[in-house]
Amino acid sequence: MEEIRQQQQQSSSFMVIHDALIVTMDAQNRVFRNGAVAVRGDTIVALGQSQDIISQFSSLSPQLLNLHGHFLLPGLINTHVHTSQQLARGIADDVDLLTWLHHRIWPYESNMTEEDSYISTLLCGIELIHSGVTCFAEAGGQHVSGMARAVELLGIRACLTQSVMDEGEGLPASWAKRTAEDCIQSQRDLHKKHHNAGDGRIRIWFGLRQIMNSSESLLTQTRDAAKELNTGIHMHVAEILYENQLVVERNGVDHGTVTYLDKIKLLQNNLLAAHTVWVNEHEVGLLSRAGVKVSHCPAAAMRMLGFAPIKEMINAGVCVSLGTDGAPSNNRMSMVDEMYLASLINKGREVFGKGTTDPTALPAETILEMATINGAKSVLWDKEIGSIEVGKKADMIVVNPSSWSMMPVHDCISSLVYCMRTENITSLMCNGRWIMVDKKILTLNEVEVVEMAKRASADVLKRAGIQIPTRMNFV
Ligand SMILES: [Zn+2]
Repeated sequence: MEEIRQQQQQSSSFMVIHDALIVTMDAQNRVFRNGAVAVRGDTIVALGQSQDIISQFSSLSPQLLNLHGHFLLPGLINTHVHTSQQLARGIADDVDLLTWLHHRIWPYESNMTEEDSYISTLLCGIELIHSGVTCFAEAGGQHVSGMARAVELLGIRACLTQSVMDEGEGLPASWAKRTAEDCIQSQRDLHKKHHNAGDGRIRIWFGLRQIMNSSESLLTQTRDAAKELNTGIHMHVAEILYENQLVVERNGVDHGTVTYLDKIKLLQNNLLAAHTVWVNEHEVGLLSRAGVKVSHCPAAAMRMLGFAPIKEMINAGVCVSLGTDGAPSNNRMSMVDEMYLASLINKGREVFGKGTTDPTALPAETILEMATINGAKSVLWDKEIGSIEVGKKADMIVVNPSSWSMMPVHDCISSLVYCMRTENITSLMCNGRWIMVDKKILTLNEVEVVEMAKRASADVLKRAGIQIPTRMNFV
């Protein structure tokens, strides 16, 4: 990796990375045992066998980087993460849903300043980068301008989304007075200010926190504004059974949120639906026909929501990707952990239907697709990212499998899902620029951010009047 560090110091922007096992995640699922990729500026300009690529470009004297013994993959894409909630890690462990939302998360979020969002996003970004994430979709948080400032510094990509609600029980006073029009206008302003910022790495989406906090006017205005600005909508969908019951009573539909969203024509191919746990077979068909993307967050689902019918969705042709959700509902913001969990819980979920697990459900190839190319489709960015292909942006990660956690490697594809740990991801490139080398992030000072985060988190909790009860017998 010394070579990467040397490259970082040189200004030339043409490099050939060679002698790597390259898992391209392209449409043919090509894997090069001894592959090379040429990167000019922010773009992949050639891909193939090492010897061919090196000789093809030898006259141009590119910087050569030998990755012998390493794997090269597309950057992972986390399609549901609450960057604003990183400072709230551990404030709501082992509590019921209502306490979680009304007494911990909403008071916390409503007391954040823009600087808190900035620091929270930096801390979250550090964890995302270490786990191989080059692009994420913010689930809807506070102070998008703070997030955008952090993403510019971090050097990765993001679809940023404001937390948007205009009705519902138990809302903090500062949120309860917002109208649907206020919500739309503030997001239009954010779009104008930040869309395509950071060399095109930042995109602004519309947010809908969830159906129970959205008037029909807000839903339809969001649908129309997103279409007008040609951007996406990120929404928590069918998270808990009670949500469906409320929608049936309130909106007179026969099942739940997905059926209602279909009725008001919000089910479209620019909708990224997070969780989507409580859906029936008919609704899976609706999602598939409309081209809705689903973000599966296995840790949060197991902890708070339930088992989503992911296998059925994939079989029906729904594009399913992976997300970590926020720190208070998962605690670990590692896509590597989510890949492992997604595979396991969807094998285990089969017990409910069949009385036995199905070890063939969601195999490693499917999980890798969910974490890469399906993620890119979910954030409407697949023409440029999600796979290692000529013409795409150079968003890639380097995996060092030579450790106790991955050795021996008899099946490199399964090893990436079942054995790889966050610690095996050593380097990360986004937009043709090395962001992490040898597990060291180059764009910021990690120690400084951790210190800032400790102070900011304590201050927010104090302002919000949140006290975490002690457990066990402290003496
Ligand atoms: Zn969420």
